[in-house]
Amino acid sequence: MQKVNLNGVKVVDVHAHPFVAAKGEEDAISFLKKLSLSVNPNMFSKEESTEKHRPVPNSNMWIQILLRNMAQYYSCEESLEEIVKARNKKAADYGEYTKELFQDVQLKGLIMDFGYPQPPLDRSEFEELSGARVWEISRIEPIMVELGKQGLNFDEFVSRYKKQLEEDLSKEGIVGLKTIIAYRSGLEVLEMDEDAAVQAYAEFTRNDRLPAKAFRDYCFHLAMEACTASGKFMHIHTGIGDGDVVMTKASPSFLLDTLRKEKYQDTKVHLVHGGYPWMEEAAFIVSILPNVYMDISLQNPFAGHGVERIISQVLELAPFNKVMYGSDAFTIPEMNWMGVKIFIDCFERVLNDWVEKDYMNAEKARYIGEMILYRNFEEIYQTKI
Ligand SMILES: [Zn+2]
Repeated sequence: MQKVNLNGVKVVDVHAHPFVAAKGEEDAISFLKKLSLSVNPNMFSKEESTEKHRPVPNSNMWIQILLRNMAQYYSCEESLEEIVKARNKKAADYGEYTKELFQDVQLKGLIMDFGYPQPPLDRSEFEELSGARVWEISRIEPIMVELGKQGLNFDEFVSRYKKQLEEDLSKEGIVGLKTIIAYRSGLEVLEMDEDAAVQAYAEFTRNDRLPAKAFRDYCFHLAMEACTASGKFMHIHTGIGDGDVVMTKASPSFLLDTLRKEKYQDTKVHLVHGGYPWMEEAAFIVSILPNVYMDISLQNPFAGHGVERIISQVLELAPFNKVMYGSDAFTIPEMNWMGVKIFIDCFERVLNDWVEKDYMNAEKARYIGEMILYRNFEEIYQTKI
């Protein structure tokens, strides 16, 4: 018998992306494409032979778990065609459907990265669509790209960039900045070197996707300084993500030298995606640095059944009050919904195991569940949901 049950606990998702109400219906393939992290749009294609129990080609455990949950939710047959048909009927009123799914899992608030998709969507529009509260982080890379196009010299760039960061950080509802430097030059950020940064700036203005490492490192430090001054959070993408990540320099351990610098000892840092698949490194870092936090987004829900192992591993070292729920959902409301469902299902298994082994009683286990689902967000971000 299950002793710990997290149903009905409210949830705040500390890392997700906005989407707009989709027009028109999905077909099986377009639906799968929206659910996948894959950057190869031809991964999913219509197949002629459809043997009854054969998994959808190129689908993985995350998609399997989602399809099964959706079939149960709609009381329909567990086939892709039937599920898509049932969801299209519901999604005809996209706002109603989105609100229904958010309410079904008590998803009350989200910190959203409006840096994807580009051009940015509107916060109030997403709040209206979902019925949830939304806080924002401002990505530094689009700011760098925009200013890089304007023919500014390095000094002009730096002063405009700093001004823009300050302006964004002073806006209501913006809780911090975010960097995706892990996608461009990696997390091994070096000390500020102005001469090298000037040279790399020339490279960046020629092509804003190039590494231009010394320039990006310089901008990273300016963003850390701006967050320190404003008391807001620096969100750093850690671990895997899109296919263009600098995978050999994406693990959180590369950040440690930077984060433990004395000048950043009061800087609040949020390690986005908890460094997956190197989440134990993130767990160690948050355990030794008082103002560094992590979330379990992206790995949840995309690691499917692995979320149970991940939660257990993260909580080997990470203090209970340093870890927050996240999804990285980015296309359709089913992703936000399934993120909460997989996480709660897996977390309950972990918590029940701890109670069974007599590490704690069921009440404490439930409280830890609440901490990671919303209480830590309230405490860390000083916000009531
Ligand atoms: Zn993301």
